[in-house]
Amino acid sequence: MESTFTPPCPYFKKCGGCQLQHLPYAEQLRRKTGRCIALLGDFGHVEPIWGMDEPTRYRNKVHAAFALDNRRKLVSGIYQPGSHAIVPVDDCMIEDAASDAVIRDIRAMLPEFKIKVFDERSGTGWLRHVLIRRGFATGQMLVVLVAVSPIFPLQKPFVKKLTELHPEITGIVLNLNDRFGPVVLGTREKLLFGTPYIEDELCGKRFRISPRSFYQINPVQTEKLYRCAVDFAALTGKETVLDAYCGIGTIGITASDKARQVIGVELNRDAVHDAIANARLNGLKNCWFTAGDAGEYMEQTARGGLRPEVVFLDPPRAGCDERFLRSLLKCAPERVVYVSCDPRTLARDLKLLTAGGYRAEKIQPVDMFPWTEHVETVCCLYHQKKDFISVPYEPKDASYLKQR
Ligand code: SAH
Repeated sequence: MESTFTPPCPYFKKCGGCQLQHLPYAEQLRRKTGRCIALLGDFGHVEPIWGMDEPTRYRNKVHAAFALDNRRKLVSGIYQPGSHAIVPVDDCMIEDAASDAVIRDIRAMLPEFKIKVFDERSGTGWLRHVLIRRGFATGQMLVVLVAVSPIFPLQKPFVKKLTELHPEITGIVLNLNDRFGPVVLGTREKLLFGTPYIEDELCGKRFRISPRSFYQINPVQTEKLYRCAVDFAALTGKETVLDAYCGIGTIGITASDKARQVIGVELNRDAVHDAIANARLNGLKNCWFTAGDAGEYMEQTARGGLRPEVVFLDPPRAGCDERFLRSLLKCAPERVVYVSCDPRTLARDLKLLTAGGYRAEKIQPVDMFPWTEHVETVCCLYHQKKDFISVPYEPKDASYLKQR
């Protein structure tokens, strides 16, 4: 049957950021639940996905690439999928409206402040991207200008004008990125105004977020996600909890009131600094954070030392690596709460975990990214037979793990 639904976004055909604009929201939710059942239903019962009441303007992080188009006109917007062509976007229905307005004003201000955008073909110009982070609960806004050099002659008047136009801006950072490639942010930063991070609130806790630290982009749904994860962990106050892939410590800190102690491990050092600051910000004395590879940390834990009763794990889309999962099986915590942003890698990792002695008790998808095809899922795993996993588990077919 031909659908009569009109995609609400005028950029839909060109942009590629949202894939499900042709479907009404209720239909998107049905489709996402169906996808989770298809991929994860063999492991356990999949609940219907939790959607949003108002599925617009949910993104607290907005990114615009700046360039000259074929007619050398200044444009800002989103990269077309698989290309370096920019689709000009002035206002996006899933992004924070105030952040979009700042990006439009920066673009309009560039000629007056003699700022040239970087041209990849000639290697000339200065500004490449603008990234904006917003704390929805606090209203704070951090503007990150990504440019190829630290030389910014009209910096002071530029900052003055932008902050006058947008008093909601609480920080402006210049990030240096002179490398080619898909990574937006470089490693060097200079503070031009205010505070170099934002603070936000989730689940009654306060969090500081630096430009390069990971932070969930949909805070309304993140609160539901974290509450679900903490519920699944069924904490009694006695447990040692490991928060693996912890970012700025959000899940561990949310769970900390119900745990004896929380240890977080995370690769990104900026995020670990934020996590340590966040424990302090919330007056918590039972949270520790360490920088490192989660797999390596889990391996050390399996060899001896602190044995967590509960492990939260929230890896990137690629899922967990084999080293992490094997060590997790050796450690054999009573409960594992897997927060996943890709049900395909979750299914792959559940195959190993369930073969190694765990059973998926509950699977709850949460719609963190309305209008896009992405699905977030929380899966609660209970340990079944302790004796079974004391023998190191070697799957017969581990080929699917070696793709990475
Ligand atoms: N739990 C956090 C972060 C989840 S995103 C939150 O909800 O906000 C995944 C995190 O894993 C990112 O912060 C990323 O930097 C981190 N990461 C990626 N690979 C890792 C690895 N091998 N070891 C530890 N952390 C890793």
